[in-house]
Amino acid sequence: MSLLDPPNAATLSPPAEPRLRRGGDERLAPIVAKVAEGRRLDREDGRLLWETPDLHTVCGLADLVRRRLHGDVAYYNVNRHINYSNVCALRCTFCAFRRRRDEDGAYEMDVERVASEAAAAEAAGATELHIVGGLHPHLPFAYYTDMLRAIRASAPKVHLKAFTAVEIVHLQRISKRGRDGLAGLRGVLEDLRDAGLGSLPGGGAEVFDDRVHDEAFKGKIRAHQWLDVHRVAHEIGLNSNATMLYGHVETREDRLTHLELLRQEQDRTLRPWAETQGIDLDGEAVVLTGPDERYPRARQPMPGADGLDGGYFQTIIPLPFFPDASELERLPGPSGLENLRTLAICRLMLDNVPHAKAFWIMQTLPMAQFMLQNGADDIDGTVVWYDITHVGGAGTHQEVGVTELLKAIREAGCRPVERDTLYRPVERFGPHGIDWRLAERES
Ligand code: SF4
Repeated sequence: MSLLDPPNAATLSPPAEPRLRRGGDERLAPIVAKVAEGRRLDREDGRLLWETPDLHTVCGLADLVRRRLHGDVAYYNVNRHINYSNVCALRCTFCAFRRRRDEDGAYEMDVERVASEAAAAEAAGATELHIVGGLHPHLPFAYYTDMLRAIRASAPKVHLKAFTAVEIVHLQRISKRGRDGLAGLRGVLEDLRDAGLGSLPGGGAEVFDDRVHDEAFKGKIRAHQWLDVHRVAHEIGLNSNATMLYGHVETREDRLTHLELLRQEQDRTLRPWAETQGIDLDGEAVVLTGPDERYPRARQPMPGADGLDGGYFQTIIPLPFFPDASELERLPGPSGLENLRTLAICRLMLDNVPHAKAFWIMQTLPMAQFMLQNGADDIDGTVVWYDITHVGGAGTHQEVGVTELLKAIREAGCRPVERDTLYRPVERFGPHGIDWRLAERES
């Protein structure tokens, strides 16, 4: 039971004023007060959220802000993952997916194969394709734009969320625009957008820290490059997500740095929009998780909203590290409680990112269901073919049906809402529920 009022978060009743109960960690009282008023939590607060044994209060606060933002709604989508190649020039120590080109199990799909998988996904009712792969040392830039165009032709309705920031920087290099700095990056992203790219996934961020970078994923891009890619994507109108891979060689302090950098970037992006909406800023901070009276008009940004001249981070997705079959196999990986606390802290610290996702494929469905009561409002989709984390393991090619997702969401006391990639509600129709259209948003 939560130490907050109301005690039973599972009912997802309207949020009440948070307060500490008898027996809670008194040191959390100032944090409870800040959340009640919609003020930003600072680094010291973040440290205490990690340290306190009072996980009930941490999770209760995360649940409260989740309900302020989304009420009892839990989002899911119908999507398909395509990993076009596992051949990668890098060798991140936590990665069990990559192969050298001459190694057993290495593969690369040709454009026709990707297009045909996309067509099959659209025919099965998917609204989104999530497309990522390794940094292939030989495929030319044209492969990627051809792939997007071919998908557009074979599956015109499906949204293409593709290429992590690491891949984008690789594409900048192979398209010979590496020396053109941000202008080169913009050119690459514009080419991809014009070929059909709809948004960027949040992968490749790992944890923004140079020591962790050098120890666990040397060769991959650094924090400022990842942030540059997402900033330029936002500038040209693409939304994106952000991840944090945790539970390997990083410290909790590193995780706080990671969240602060994302928050800072999102403040910069959302400030003009927040001013247009009359949102009472907390200093320079755009806090979206406060009480209702702070939001005279929209509480959350939507693509194309007044004052919003481009894209933004939609979702934070904490990703637990899986040691199996990686070069860091000696590490234990995070525990269930650590996963829960990390999700809750992401929800509380990233007060300007609208959504927090419990990515069931990495958290497991039962844990993702539990997370819906502790800060998450999104459970991801009916994923098919997700090799990145589970290669060689029993879980390769994972999928759950919509019925199972709906059951998990309802059991958690939430109201399932199917969304498209940009969090617009989706309505199903037709005999088998394969056909879909965007629904009116609830006011
Ligand atoms: S994590 Fe990505 S970049 Fe690193 S080795 Fe694996 S596929 Fe390559």
